[in-house]
Amino acid sequence: MNNQIQPIFILPEDSKRTIGKDAQRNNIMAAKAVAETIRTTLGPKGMDKMLVSSMGDIIVTNDGATILDEIKVEHPAAKMIVEAAKTQDNEVGDGTTTVAILIGELLKNAERLLDDNLHPTIIIKGYRKASEKALEILNDIAEDISDSDAYRNIALTAMTGKGAEIAKSKLAELTVEAIMQVKDGNEVDLDNIKIEKKTGESVENSELIKGIVIDKERVHSSMPKKIENAKIALLDTQLEIKSTEIDAKIQISSPDQIQGFLEQEERILKELSQKVIKSGANVVVCQKGIDDLVQHYLAKAGIYAVRRVKKSDMEKLAKATGAVIVNNLNDLTEKELGKAGVVEAKKVGDEEMTYVKECQSAKAVTLLIRGGTSHVVDEIERAVRDSFGVLASSVKYNKIVPGAGACEIELAKELRKYANTLSGREQLAALAFADSIEIIPRTLAENSGLDPIDVLAELKSAHEKSKNIGINVFTGKTMDAIKEGIIEPLKIKTQAIKSATEVSELILRIDDVIAAGTGSDSGMPKHGMPPQDMM
Ligand code: ADP
Ligand code: MG
Repeated sequence: MNNQIQPIFILPEDSKRTIGKDAQRNNIMAAKAVAETIRTTLGPKGMDKMLVSSMGDIIVTNDGATILDEIKVEHPAAKMIVEAAKTQDNEVGDGTTTVAILIGELLKNAERLLDDNLHPTIIIKGYRKASEKALEILNDIAEDISDSDAYRNIALTAMTGKGAEIAKSKLAELTVEAIMQVKDGNEVDLDNIKIEKKTGESVENSELIKGIVIDKERVHSSMPKKIENAKIALLDTQLEIKSTEIDAKIQISSPDQIQGFLEQEERILKELSQKVIKSGANVVVCQKGIDDLVQHYLAKAGIYAVRRVKKSDMEKLAKATGAVIVNNLNDLTEKELGKAGVVEAKKVGDEEMTYVKECQSAKAVTLLIRGGTSHVVDEIERAVRDSFGVLASSVKYNKIVPGAGACEIELAKELRKYANTLSGREQLAALAFADSIEIIPRTLAENSGLDPIDVLAELKSAHEKSKNIGINVFTGKTMDAIKEGIIEPLKIKTQAIKSATEVSELILRIDDVIAAGTGSDSGMPKHGMPPQDMM
């Protein structure tokens, strides 16, 4: 028997392992670094980032989710923040910067407690209790949406400080109108809002079309350019003769037969055209091809036709016009036709597009975004999407909270009261949680060039009287955020608190990082650890 102790290797030789405090500190550092990076973009006076991809593409943006997505962080803890921001984006469509900053601050304050020898599990417990309480408090702070002006203000608050600033009142109007048009009770399916972007003209020239804009031109130049009281046929079948899959041979022995064959083809095409014309349609939107001869007959009958239209556009057209998509011409009758006030060919930039507009009670609409360059329209699109997100969430839950840091100050104040009811060590953690929430007003102040200490002191004393007092970042004074119309949907804040607490917990729980070897020697764990599906 050999009693000599053999070293046991459970990991491959080149894997990296950091344990205990090192692992924790390392993760916290990474999270703080991410938060620090996007902190400067928060709020109306936040700055933008210019992101240059490895291919040289440029994005100029103020949008948290986009920045985090584009900077392609490698550190596993940092990646978790990116995931949290994405969740926020999917759930509410806004508040992504807020989540990332919150996580950074929760971890920074946790680090302080770790230094004081508080065990991570105690911190986690205190954080969790505080976050549950926070959701209750937020519900108390929230108010019902009482008038339609509120929607406009919600949209404006979401778009403040983005590239949309130049035309934000116009865009707020358009986005609210779009949401009101497509909402069904208090549900909003954002898929029913089509966003088309075309460079040229200015943002002010953006427009909402109660209907659908299709990026296609008329198939035949002698077709009418404009049809009023359009009756629209949506066809998911080709208006040409099917080319057979199988090779067929036709034996022809005389010129008459060729003639006969061609005539027969013509007859079939004419019949196809006649079926369409007979239905009473004056507009045909075809998902497939349209034969030249059919084009000719349709044009002669004064019909406007487009072909090879995307399936998603067909579906939106059906919603907007009330048409039924037909895949067998024999089924096409007047009943299947949809209606639109106007269908017309319009030059946008240097392309002809088809506008199907003035649809009565359209359940699908198009927002056409204009702007000087592609970078401008892209950033406008991101701002507009934020606006759609907050509006949809407001329609659904009908609850708003004051913005401009007001609800965070109130939250911190109430959380401190609650913390005092907890026992010793958990109390410290809950207090740290309350402190962390104040990072939002503090950052808003900092980004506006104000002194955060003065501003916070003033806000706190104002909150003795009213829960709605926030910072006016333009004057540096305090203001009633609700009266000034700086309002946000409750869901932004509850979702942000939930995600931020969960991710902080997750990161605090890690005391061991084992990274599979990558061959490189960069010192940081690269891929694979900790697993993302822990989230
Ligand atoms: P996020 O990605 O978290 O939505 P934003 O850059 O959009 O980040 O900033 C949102 C913050 O800016 C919120 O806390 C909101 O209350 C605040 N805010 C928005 N408009 C104003 C305003 N006019 N005055 C003060 N604060 C504002
Ligand atoms: Mg925002």
